[in-house]
Amino acid sequence: MCRHLAYLGPPVTLASLVLDPGHSIYEQSWAPADMRGGGSVNADGFGLGWYPEGDAAVSGGPVRYRRNVPIWTDENLPGLAGSIRSGAVVAAIRNGTVNMPYGQAAVAPFMLGDWLFSHNGRIPGWPESTLKLAERLPVADLLEMDAPVDSALLWALITNRLAEGIPPADAVAAVVQEVEAAAPGSRLNVLLTDGEQLIATTWTHSLHTRRTADSLTVSSEPFGPGKWNEVPDRSLLVATATTLHITPMEGPE
Ligand code: GLN
Repeated sequence: MCRHLAYLGPPVTLASLVLDPGHSIYEQSWAPADMRGGGSVNADGFGLGWYPEGDAAVSGGPVRYRRNVPIWTDENLPGLAGSIRSGAVVAAIRNGTVNMPYGQAAVAPFMLGDWLFSHNGRIPGWPESTLKLAERLPVADLLEMDAPVDSALLWALITNRLAEGIPPADAVAAVVQEVEAAAPGSRLNVLLTDGEQLIATTWTHSLHTRRTADSLTVSSEPFGPGKWNEVPDRSLLVATATTLHITPMEGPE
C-alpha cells in the first residue's frame, strides 16, 4: 500500500515534513513499517502538492511536483523541498498495485482546481468491478482521467460529486460506500484537501494524527517527534488546522 500525509498549519518547509524527520515518508519509501500485506517498498513514484504562500500564490491553487521514480533517486528534491514553504501540503509515495499502469500520471496527489487528492489502497477486480460506477460518469470525466488506474477513477467519482455541489465529506463518504458495494474488500484510504479543510478516510489501512495548538498532520505512519494518535479503521476524518472530527463510517447498505 502506498503511504501518504497531509499537513495544515503555519507555513513550514516541505523538507521538514517529507525528508528531515526520523521515519519520514522519504524513509518510508524503502523501509515502511506497516504495509499490511500490500507490497514491500514504495518505489513507483512520489508526489508533493502544496499551496504557495504570499506573492507566490498567483493562481491561488495548489502546485504539484510528481515523478515516476523512487523518491530517494531525485537529486533535486532536497534543494527544492528545503526552499519551499507552505501551510498546506499533501505528499504521497506509490507502490503501484499489480496490473495498474506505471508512470507519473498514476502518482498522487491528483489535482483539480483547488483540490488535492491521494489514495492509499486498491479496488479488487479492477476494472470490471467498477464498470457500473464508471458508466454513470460523464464521458468527458473518464477521458480526462490522469491514468487508467483505480485511484484516478476514485478521484473522478469524487470530483463528479464535488461538481454537483455535494459537500466534500459527504462526497468522499458516498464514494467509499458505493465502491465498497461494487467491489467488496476495497481498500479506500483517501486524503482530500483544498488547503483549508481536510477530509480523510481509513478504510482498511492506517492513519495517524498529530496535533499542535495551530497545526494538524495526518500520516499513514507516524514520523518525527510529537504525540501521534491512531485513527480507528473505517473512520471519516474532517479537519482544519485547528479542528478535528473523527466519526465511524458504516458499511454499504
Ligand atoms: N492502487 C493504487 C495504485 O496502483 C494505489 C496503490 C497503493 O496504495 N499501494 O496506484
